Amino acid sequence: MDDVATYPAGLILTGRRVLVVGGGHVAQRRVPQLIAVGADVHVVSPEVTPAIEGMVGSGEVSWHRRGFEEADVDGAWYVIAATDDRAVNERVSVAAEERRVFCVRSDDGTRATAWTPAVGRHAGVTVAVLGQREPQRSARVRDEILEGLREGTIVARHQRDRSPGVVLVGGGPGDPELMTIAGRKALVEADVVVADRLAPRELLGELPPDVELIDVAKLPRGRSAQQEEINRIIVARALEGKRVVRFKGGDNFVFGRGYEEVLACREAGVPVTVVPGLTSPVAVPAVAGIPVTHRGVAHEFTVVSGHLPPGHPESQVNWAALGSLSGTVVLMMAVENAPAIAAALVAGGRPPQTPVAVVCDGTMPGERTVLATLETLASRLAEEAVRPPAIIVVGEVVRVAHPAHFS
Ligand code: SAH
Repeated sequence: MDDVATYPAGLILTGRRVLVVGGGHVAQRRVPQLIAVGADVHVVSPEVTPAIEGMVGSGEVSWHRRGFEEADVDGAWYVIAATDDRAVNERVSVAAEERRVFCVRSDDGTRATAWTPAVGRHAGVTVAVLGQREPQRSARVRDEILEGLREGTIVARHQRDRSPGVVLVGGGPGDPELMTIAGRKALVEADVVVADRLAPRELLGELPPDVELIDVAKLPRGRSAQQEEINRIIVARALEGKRVVRFKGGDNFVFGRGYEEVLACREAGVPVTVVPGLTSPVAVPAVAGIPVTHRGVAHEFTVVSGHLPPGHPESQVNWAALGSLSGTVVLMMAVENAPAIAAALVAGGRPPQTPVAVVCDGTMPGERTVLATLETLASRLAEEAVRPPAIIVVGEVVRVAHPAHFS
């Protein structure tokens, strides 16, 4: 058949009746999109999938539990014929044609008066791709466009949100694929990016050339002075009218001093928003194949900073209490103090044979896992010359993940 010239249009179906004939997997894929645009969806089918039944139960669609009747098309603005019975679909399209209602068909596009494009949305733009009945190719084209928009290789400049302010963006544990879509969008829209050492660095290479990049790792050392300087920079740039992204590894509020930056912005009257990130104490063990909870094994997990050793006057951690728990303990910033921490957990009551996994450079090309027990942790860290960043997982979940090693 010759190519069909379709005329694309964005239908506004809010509050308008849409008829879906059929309740199987095709209908199940179309109905949520119709619900999302506020259509008055009527499903006609003797049976529906459990997913559609759920949408009926929540009142999002109306279900007419019977076979199709021509009169079902009356009053509809749009019809989807999605049964697995060609004869029924044919009756639906004939009834729609007679009533001059556009009708798509799941089984035979040549007998339809409308085609469903491959659809995706990004930041207020709808991408709809129609091919010559090659759904996989259309979907691939759509995916390419969406990826370009998300990654910023397709930059629609006028779309950028240039309103001044600060966005705290969590970059996830390191692999750029593990950053959120909202975080990527914020990066693309930034005038200034203030980045830490652990933020996914590859993404910084993708920034448009006019974006100012401030590498906080290069600021003079001394933790509190450094943080004050960061606060000063983000506030000053925002007050100059810039859109500032404060870009960190993991989540900005998990040992990231993110809330100090929120407070500094508030004090200066600078608008501040937060895009959460996948935090490393959960994501790094997950990628390394270690669950932080497991039914019947660990009903809690505790995330603890090990940057101060047990007994340090400024420590706020009750190591003895942690030693008396039986769940998972996830230690961060703990490589240096790990020997003292392991000893404190054993002193608090943890068996010395408790399994331990040290995941170094999680989600990054050099990722590796070192296994130990609380008793052997100090020597294993030395043998393997473990350097930060590392996540140390303590507890029986490590045995679940590595049964052979701890048998
Ligand atoms: N805000 C971050 C944590 C910052 S504290 C988050 O939410 O993940 C820095 C510590 O995080 C490191 O010392 C290390 O313990 C841990 N960490 C962060 N990224 C890591 C990674 N990719 N692999 C292993 N540990 C990581």
